[in-house]
Amino acid sequence: MGDKVNDLPRLDKAQRDVVMLGIATAAIILFVGIGGTVMPQVARHWLDSSAAPPDTALVNALLLNIALIIFGWRRYVDLRKEIEQRREAEKEALHLSQIDPLTGCLNRRCATERLMEALAAMADTHRAVAFVMIDLDGFKEINDQNGHQAGDEVLLEVSRRLKAIAPSEGHCARLGGDEFAFIMPLENEDPHSLELWACEMTGNVARPIQTEMGALEVTISAGIAVHRPDQRIDNLEGAARKLMHRADLAMYHAKKEGRNRFCWFDLSMEAEARLRREMEVAIRAGLERGEFTPHYEQQIDLETGRLVGFEMLARWNSAELGEVSPDIFIPIAENCGLIGPLSEMLIRRALIDARSWSPSLTLSINISPVQLRDPWLPQKLLKLLLGSDFPANRLDVEISEACLQENLAAVQTMIVSLKNLGVRVSLDDFGTGFATLTQLRTLPFDRVKIDRSFVGELRRVAQASPDLISDRAQQDHIVNALVSLGQGLQIPITAEGIEDASILETLRGMGEMKGQGYLYGKPEDAAAVVKRLSELDMLSESAKTAAAQPAPDPGHRKSA
Ligand code: C2E
Ligand code: CA
Ligand code: CA
Repeated sequence: MGDKVNDLPRLDKAQRDVVMLGIATAAIILFVGIGGTVMPQVARHWLDSSAAPPDTALVNALLLNIALIIFGWRRYVDLRKEIEQRREAEKEALHLSQIDPLTGCLNRRCATERLMEALAAMADTHRAVAFVMIDLDGFKEINDQNGHQAGDEVLLEVSRRLKAIAPSEGHCARLGGDEFAFIMPLENEDPHSLELWACEMTGNVARPIQTEMGALEVTISAGIAVHRPDQRIDNLEGAARKLMHRADLAMYHAKKEGRNRFCWFDLSMEAEARLRREMEVAIRAGLERGEFTPHYEQQIDLETGRLVGFEMLARWNSAELGEVSPDIFIPIAENCGLIGPLSEMLIRRALIDARSWSPSLTLSINISPVQLRDPWLPQKLLKLLLGSDFPANRLDVEISEACLQENLAAVQTMIVSLKNLGVRVSLDDFGTGFATLTQLRTLPFDRVKIDRSFVGELRRVAQASPDLISDRAQQDHIVNALVSLGQGLQIPITAEGIEDASILETLRGMGEMKGQGYLYGKPEDAAAVVKRLSELDMLSESAKTAAAQPAPDPGHRKSA
């Protein structure tokens, strides 16, 4: 294709060579002129041999003329053919530069151009223009688990289904990877009809797709943004990019809302995106300024009431934003690629803090799904353990159940690699995700942590009026089922979110387990933990010795 495109400028030159046709025409005129003189001479000489022979010079000129005409004509025919071929090549090159080769949809560049054309046409048509951004859900997993061939088949079939539903004046584009889009002028601005169309689109794509690897299922998340005719346009390209960005924000919102759906853009999404960007900047600055600190939540053996360890939880006291919850900053740090450095810094500090605890106490850390995809994670943890001289068997790595949605084989390999370090691995937030019985059996978890949302409900039902007793029984059943599942698989259990004595009592009746929650106190900083452990006589020997030594005399230090 590149050669054809490079040849294109020569097309003009070829067209200019039509001059050749002019030369041939001149030759014809000359032929007529010379022929008019020579031919009668030839004819006379033939009929009457005594007549003077034709002038040799003129005959030669005539023959040369004939040769020139033939040559000129042939050249002209060749040129026409060449021009035709080049025109075809130009058309094909243009087509290829606008089309995605796999799906035949418009490509990103052409989609932007079409959108600009549609926006420009609005001045005449007075019709709104919608841009619909579409992203396949979990396409990476489909590719990883079934291979790129099956991935291509899925993309192709999705594009067919999208094209089949495209409105008559709409354009379907593939913006890259697993991202598609529609550009469509709207007959009327009735959101209802567009919504019906979007419902049909998501439903159509969600039907199973037959591939070489069998039937695969994929869903899409879509975002819709509309430019109305009464909205000003100063710069066409800017307006197109803005509309695309807005549809993109709406699409991300659809993902966040649970995928397999569409969302309309609204202005709050722009504000949210701005906040997220500001938050990213603040996280970077906070990391440099050391604003993140580890806090520790007690973990208790419910039977004996003994303290058995702590879970490290990140805390952020931002200079600009004040206290920010990890539920807010962890997902942002995950998105902007800062979770790795943030988590490593916190773990390093936690391992150092935990060295002053009794060797009987364990340290639990949370590892995010993003970190779990890092093949170097075990090596990084090993380095941290060696660097702080903390025994691996006292470290417990908590992996959220949400991770099991990802590539299971990769998760399994990661768990095995982590366990090879000698650390323990727990399944966090058990009950909220998608762990199947098979996964629980095959993945070598050392512990499951029943999510606090179920445990917390136990109090609600414990305090419920007698007529809600069946409600209580139902909640008991859920926690009971989760506990029994763990017991049946012989995996030890921790219950999170024990907020009061009534929950503790209910849990104690369910069997042996560890527990944690606000009943035992909120997560506290390293100094508060040391104070607590000192009261319980659970500090390490070295920490006890250090504590027993008198503080250096500041006056002495000064004179030294
Ligand atoms: P998680 O791992 O499930 O942590 C337990 C959360 O429950 C903590 O919230 C804790 O403060 C809270 N909690 C503990 N006991 C109770 C209770 O009795 N009642 C109630 N209502 N809540 C209780 P926190 O610290 O806000 O952390 C939220 C989540 O943020 C954590 O959930 C964890 O997923 C994540 N997170 C925290 N620190 C880190 C970290 O360093 N790395 C990663 N990757 N994630 C972290
Ligand atoms: Ca946890
Ligand atoms: Ca949890």
